[in-house]
Amino acid sequence: MIGDIKSLFREELEPRFKEWGLPAYRVDQVLAWIYQQRVAGWDAMTNLPKALREKLKSELSFTNLELVRKQGSKDTTQKFLWKLGDGAFIESVLIPANPALYGEASDRNTLCVSTQVGCAYGCKFCASGLEGWKRNLHAEEIVDQVLAVERWNQAQQTLENSGESPLSNPSKPRLIDNLVIMGMGEPLANYDNLLKALKILNAPWGGGIGARKITVSTSGLAPQIRKLADEPMQFRLAISLHGATDDVRLKIMPVNKKYPLRELTAACEYYQEKKGRMITLEYILIAGVNDGQDQIKPLAQLAHRLHAKVNLIPYNKVEDLSWERPSVEVQEKFLENLERQDVIATLRREKGHDIDAACGQLRLKTERELAKAVVEPAV
Ligand code: SAH
Ligand code: SF4
Repeated sequence: MIGDIKSLFREELEPRFKEWGLPAYRVDQVLAWIYQQRVAGWDAMTNLPKALREKLKSELSFTNLELVRKQGSKDTTQKFLWKLGDGAFIESVLIPANPALYGEASDRNTLCVSTQVGCAYGCKFCASGLEGWKRNLHAEEIVDQVLAVERWNQAQQTLENSGESPLSNPSKPRLIDNLVIMGMGEPLANYDNLLKALKILNAPWGGGIGARKITVSTSGLAPQIRKLADEPMQFRLAISLHGATDDVRLKIMPVNKKYPLRELTAACEYYQEKKGRMITLEYILIAGVNDGQDQIKPLAQLAHRLHAKVNLIPYNKVEDLSWERPSVEVQEKFLENLERQDVIATLRREKGHDIDAACGQLRLKTERELAKAVVEPAV
């Protein structure tokens, strides 16, 4: 086996196909089946001779994520829990278009993608880090989160259009056109697999999602932020800031010991200068921790220096953790005070709160239920 088909660039496949005595158009056919039709296996590639399918089967693996649980309904945030080949769980969250939220008709559905099983960074408020880090996701496991949601959507539509063959259209319309790498795990700690997956999802022969529609979120790995800045791709960057001073950040984010704000800010500045794009500072509001007036001035200074906008997110309660979100009045006041300092800021009146939408929560719940052996069958 030379690897998984969903982890390989077209430029990597071409010489292999040539070696096997296959014409170049076969590569295009295979890629179209995967990224346009989003088939789940070699045997669905009906315009390939059987012998060729057998050859490909013996040379390349074909990973599919298994949907084990889904929460949410069609017009609200939907959460997918996937089982990987080794039995580990990860999740993706589909956030439907909401013109009121994004203000642009061209924005459709956003998928929030995971990059690791668990997380080693142990932010004190986050469910993903609660049970530690298990492993990095492979590139194909990142890529297939997008394809698997598209497959699920195709299956739903086929059901709705009762009986229409899923292969009757040459190319299926795409559901997802925005990606946020804000699911479980620290994306920049899985740098190589992340980059490979994002390049595949961005490629015109692959996922076809514009780089500017892909946002990578990090808890603040300064050297990798610089490395990402040096890549040619124009990905958007979001920083999980959650504190505008070292003392507040240190209380909730151990990563701040390694990369204190001075270092993180310098790396963000480098990214901003290289890309010329606006960075987003994510700021979860946690009652009594980072919602005080003392954070307003330093946060405004940081935002101005980095030409960044601030996304305020009311904390999403995690079972077993004692943190709470502040009252709506405190949230609104924090926003108002930031705006008074001429900061571009939004307050998320959150979607998906009721379905454990913050990262890692569905997985945690399922693992705990499995430990107690009370998990219900898959949706
Ligand atoms: N590790 C990366 C990306 C995944 S976390 C990072 O930290 O940026 C994605 C976002 O969800 C981060 O901004 C994180 O701080 C936030 N988050 C984690 N737990 C949360 C919770 N309980 N409520 C609201 N946001 C949360
Ligand atoms: Fe990891 Fe991000 Fe959660 Fe921190 S917030 S524990 S870095 S997933």
